[in-house]
Amino acid sequence: MTDTTVAGSPADVENDSKLPSHQARGDGSPDTWLYPEAWIDELKGIADLSAETVRQILAVAWEYTRCVIPVYTNSSRYLAFCRVIIVGIVAKFNGSLVDILAGDTVLGYNLNELFDTLFAQCPHRDALAQDYRTFIIATAEKTSNRQDSELFRRYVNALAESPKTWFRIRDADAIMRFSLAAALACNDIDNLMFTEEQFQILGEIGCTMYDAVAFYKHRAEGETNDTFAYVPSSLRQEAYRRAREVLWALDVAWADYPGHLPIVNFIRSFGGPIHMMMGRYRFVEDGLTIGKPETEDVISQTRRKFKLWNRVDSGRECGPDEARYCEVIRQSGRLLFDGLADLLQRQEPGRERCDRCRYRMSYGAERSGEFGGVELCDECREGWRFYIESLPQRAAAAFPELHGTQLRLG
Ligand SMILES: [Zn+2]
Repeated sequence: MTDTTVAGSPADVENDSKLPSHQARGDGSPDTWLYPEAWIDELKGIADLSAETVRQILAVAWEYTRCVIPVYTNSSRYLAFCRVIIVGIVAKFNGSLVDILAGDTVLGYNLNELFDTLFAQCPHRDALAQDYRTFIIATAEKTSNRQDSELFRRYVNALAESPKTWFRIRDADAIMRFSLAAALACNDIDNLMFTEEQFQILGEIGCTMYDAVAFYKHRAEGETNDTFAYVPSSLRQEAYRRAREVLWALDVAWADYPGHLPIVNFIRSFGGPIHMMMGRYRFVEDGLTIGKPETEDVISQTRRKFKLWNRVDSGRECGPDEARYCEVIRQSGRLLFDGLADLLQRQEPGRERCDRCRYRMSYGAERSGEFGGVELCDECREGWRFYIESLPQRAAAAFPELHGTQLRLG
């Protein structure tokens, strides 16, 4: 797995008769997709994916995996993680190809077997599998133009219920705890696991940092899932600094425990550097900068799936689908992380909420420069501000070892 070769050279791209015409390239030059030769059969025979798109997906999966889990000792688990990432990347731009409501076999992979391989020694195997399926089912809803579905409407309403709820759902949405457990498994570290409170803190650190950096990408996508669509966006810098500080404090506290290194390595890369290292982001296209406000051009490219991004515009209608929502609830023990079904069930039409916040029947961005989810009023946003400002204290309560560091708790 470590010998990379050029599996998709520029010449291959030019000769590819299946090249979709909508694949605009940012700088007019052909991209090169790099991944191991051994991956040649991955996604083989998926009729809805062109050879060009498959190459791009595999390269993104390779780059992401190598960034967030840079070293490993267990190659079969590592390959299993790569494959769940491949499925995830497809879900991020074309949810119609990953309908896990019907079962665990998608895109030629059996997810259940991949989870068995990854988490053979992990007592949390089933819970982590639920987290992953939550990510797929919600993301696929968003990327298959089902913005007004019963499931998606309730899901987006739930995102805005409270900061604690938000970070738990975002944790699953970013498959944070799943991937952190995978990072340990890939390094044969089977005797370290975190409590629910600890996982929540690790997820909050990673997602705060990632979302602060990905703010304009997410806005170009009309995302519903960015922390700063709910936390006042003026707090991005401060929130990033604070989360980064807590991460470094954990790194210092764990300095003598090499077994914790996969955790810090994962969050450190996920929280920012991947935006420079992965071709999926616009670092090169934007003149070696990160965090450039989106333009109409970028939004238009996003609608065309450039870099496998996905634009969620409002106004799509998929028609009545109460039955699908009920089926998801019926299968919630398999498809949703514990507690999410109750949360969704609470989001009934007509539920009493703050009347200054803007809840909608159908989500997605209505115009450029806006996110696609619930718009909280200024007063409600203040509550979110207090929550994220308390991260260091909450982190120290979950990880007592932080008291032995110089982390500022006041
Ligand atoms: Zn409000």
